[in-house]
Amino acid sequence: MSLKMTELIEKKKRGGSLSNEELRFIVTGSLKGEIPDYQLAALFMAIRFQGMDQRETSDLTREMLNSGKVLELSSIPGKKIDKHSTGGVGDKVSLILAPLIASAGVVVPMLSGRGLGHTGGTLDKLESIPGFRTDLSIPSFLKQLSHIGVGIIGQSEKIAPADRLFYALRDVTGTVDSIPLITASILSKKLAEGAEVYVFDVKVGQGAFMRTMKDARALSSSLVSVSSEMGKKASALITSMEQPLGEMVGNALEVKEAIDALKGEGPADLIKLTMQLGAEMLHLAGMVRNIEDGIDVLKGKLQRGETLDRFREMVSWQGGNPRLVDDYRQLPQAKERWEMQSPSDGYISRLDAYEIGLAVKRLGGGRESLQQKIDPSVGIRCRKKMGEWVRKGEILMEIYYNNSQQLSKVIEGLSSAVELSPERVAPPSLIRDKISL
Ligand code: URA
Repeated sequence: MSLKMTELIEKKKRGGSLSNEELRFIVTGSLKGEIPDYQLAALFMAIRFQGMDQRETSDLTREMLNSGKVLELSSIPGKKIDKHSTGGVGDKVSLILAPLIASAGVVVPMLSGRGLGHTGGTLDKLESIPGFRTDLSIPSFLKQLSHIGVGIIGQSEKIAPADRLFYALRDVTGTVDSIPLITASILSKKLAEGAEVYVFDVKVGQGAFMRTMKDARALSSSLVSVSSEMGKKASALITSMEQPLGEMVGNALEVKEAIDALKGEGPADLIKLTMQLGAEMLHLAGMVRNIEDGIDVLKGKLQRGETLDRFREMVSWQGGNPRLVDDYRQLPQAKERWEMQSPSDGYISRLDAYEIGLAVKRLGGGRESLQQKIDPSVGIRCRKKMGEWVRKGEILMEIYYNNSQQLSKVIEGLSSAVELSPERVAPPSLIRDKISL
């Protein structure tokens, strides 16, 4: 049968369902350069409005996954488990969780991403460690996994190339926020790791791509059901992204906070979420009887310093200097610091994660274009979080920057990111729901 892209666009525009053969034609044709960008963009917009059923989403995911290489980990003993966050502000959980779970005896083959929009990315954070390489070859990555059970690298052009092409196009055609397209994009990369168990951290709120619980639940169900159809065990926690996670936002600052957490000195919300996700991973993999047991196991690993040792090993295997763990001066430092003071007394009722993420990007901590080099030293420390009482003149945030132009670009946005209330305000609950099959 000869397929025509114009007919497939028409079919989806009218709400039809694309067959596996049609989806394969679209993925392979795009990679061969036989389908022009304008037709793909029109198709993505039709999908954005008409959606896809679960069978179509699974077929699209499988075709995108098979457009590249899938890691073969069977020669490495142990369960292979990973976590994926849909993107947040101050979310440095992977830096702590990957060595934590590996110290509990599982293998964590983590393929991570860079910052997207106002959100930060694990690779950018790790690369603020001088010498740290996230572009290891697949054989080097596998060797590292068999020795220390953990590694964090980026997606090479060999992994899910269809997603690289589609994502770049979606980014500039207003078609990122489509649940089936997000599902296929995330899973085509993540399943290429070859892990058996996946836990998703689906962020919801002002600083997340999913702003409402309805959308967050729909994305969670889609990620969990398609993973399961592809033979993986999966569950999703829906977690709050109203305010930044932890205190630090910005690449090197977040590495420092993650190491503090590995030493048992991290902020409470960051530790709580890391432990919950880790326990969920161990439970889903059948390594503990319940979540409470999982948390006990992980607390023990942290307290005995085993996780910090595993982090040091990971830094060393990936080209960084592990002495950084005891000497933060090895991390890039911003030259200047400005303190934003509270304009009045009150309880913090809003600490807008979106505005804070955007400010860090404007300071140079994120990219405006793909080619831009980021400044790892800049960032923001939130000294107070939602629900806390502050007095007039107390420090709300510290802004780390390198020149006054950077600072002047963010002051206005940051002032509007904070609201105070005379009434007591409860902080948003961190873990909102869990979706599993
Ligand atoms: N992250 C991804 O990898 N893909 C998307 O489509 C959205 C977030």
